[in-house]
Amino acid sequence: MTEENADQADMLKWAKGYAHKHGWTLNTDEKQLMTVIRGLVRNKTKFGRPYCPCRIRSGDEEKDRAIECPCIFHKEEVAKQGHCHCNLYYKEP
Ligand code: SF4
Repeated sequence: MTEENADQADMLKWAKGYAHKHGWTLNTDEKQLMTVIRGLVRNKTKFGRPYCPCRIRSGDEEKDRAIECPCIFHKEEVAKQGHCHCNLYYKEP
């Protein structure tokens, strides 16, 4: 397994665990799911933090803490829309 694949597997495992803890599921569309996972890994590698791949970073570390996955918006989004903005976490399978 390459380091990149290992990082993706770790991120996926972490996201699964987090979803499970909240009684949610991950996106069942494997392609969409892995696009988000890869985006999170990329941001973590590049910026040191798993910033949301679907939101714009301001570049201000303090402000951007809000968009570190899991972002400050996701609970409300899952509750209201059934999924987070990135379509990573889903209320229902
Ligand atoms: S929108 Fe979803 S994937 Fe993006 S940071 Fe929030 S919880 Fe993570």
